[in-house]
Amino acid sequence: MRILVINCGSSSIKYKLYGAEVCDSLAEGIIEGIGAPGVRHRHRVGDWETTVKASVIDYRSGVSRTVEALSEWGPAPPLSDLREIVGVGHRVVHGGERFSASVIIDPEVVETIESLDSLAPLHNPANRAGIEAAGELLPEAVGVAAFDTAFFSTLPERAYRYAVPAEWWRHHGVRRYGFHGISHRYLVERASKVLGEPRPNLVTFHLGAGASACAVREGSAVDTSMGMTPLEGLVMGTRSGDIDPAVVFHLMEAGLSASEIRRGLERKGGLLGLSGISSDFRRLAEADQAGEPSASLAVEVFCHRIRRYLGAFLVQTGPCDAVVFSGGIGENSPEVRRRVLDGLGSLGLALDASLNEAEGERQISTDESPIAAWVIPTDEEALIARDTAQLALADQR
Ligand code: ADP
Repeated sequence: MRILVINCGSSSIKYKLYGAEVCDSLAEGIIEGIGAPGVRHRHRVGDWETTVKASVIDYRSGVSRTVEALSEWGPAPPLSDLREIVGVGHRVVHGGERFSASVIIDPEVVETIESLDSLAPLHNPANRAGIEAAGELLPEAVGVAAFDTAFFSTLPERAYRYAVPAEWWRHHGVRRYGFHGISHRYLVERASKVLGEPRPNLVTFHLGAGASACAVREGSAVDTSMGMTPLEGLVMGTRSGDIDPAVVFHLMEAGLSASEIRRGLERKGGLLGLSGISSDFRRLAEADQAGEPSASLAVEVFCHRIRRYLGAFLVQTGPCDAVVFSGGIGENSPEVRRRVLDGLGSLGLALDASLNEAEGERQISTDESPIAAWVIPTDEEALIARDTAQLALADQR
């Protein structure tokens, strides 16, 4: 039995193949540059890895290449017969108000995802293309959709409604949905295990190229920093996060077009906009160390915004059990964690400097700290694979 997890992004396909025990993946890969010239396909099975170049390909041929690589590439391909794949789990960015958990894909599910295209124009169409391609290439496997928004279906109305005219909500879907839900749910499940707390109160941070915070009360999401789209909230690689909405009409009145403003906020803002150097945190951290003022400012604003949400969310979780850091930056930057937690002893958060510098999943607060702090490496694919295995097996019974 094999489970394939596919994540069709706006220009890439990431995939992982799992065996019956959904622990470590058997193989994984990424096809980058979908729809453009110069496609790069990296594929790994155990220690064996290859990268090949391809000409322009679309999602369908990308999924077809994926299946071919899993069956034929390398000294020990993990797939001997396509029928071994019993389930294909797809990451879907926007599930709107309709989906509160992962579901088996049928035509109605695909239609609903399509109806949400306008809320996630870069992602939902790509997700659907992956679903359709896998449906054609692996017709016997059960398709499962795991939504980035589903974990936030527990947000109370006071947290998901914006204070705007109510018809914007009724007619245009203007409300907070939240994103990165697969990662935050993984962090909650893991934190629950390591803390020995079945329904923990947490503040979780996913800090990668995209970044978000989530307030968790008794195991359920009660607030999150991302909004109607993944633009709101924390400072991200190229996304601004929170700004005063008046900035938009101020700039429109100054002559900028809607698409120029969108580009500024989504693609040219964030760490890149602040620093003028890079959207990549590691590069900025190096430039900060080297004394480059704009890089130092970008890092400061990034950490300041995280602290702002930490403060806001600590009052929503109830007595907080732990603050959790994850994502490329959250897992790998002791400096960011130090700056975020610095001087918060009076709130009950005390960082252990040497644990903060260590590696892997671990507590990073002192044993005396009333609120724990943890680093938990996220694993969104493993969670999608688990949901897929569960639904696919239940479907076969
Ligand atoms: P994505 O959201 O695309 O999955 P990741 O979670 O991989 O992104 O995070 C990417 C970010 O993590 C980049 O800004 C990268 O510079 C940063 N990062 C990766 N390793 C380190 C490190 N050792 N120190 C600081 N930042 C790091």
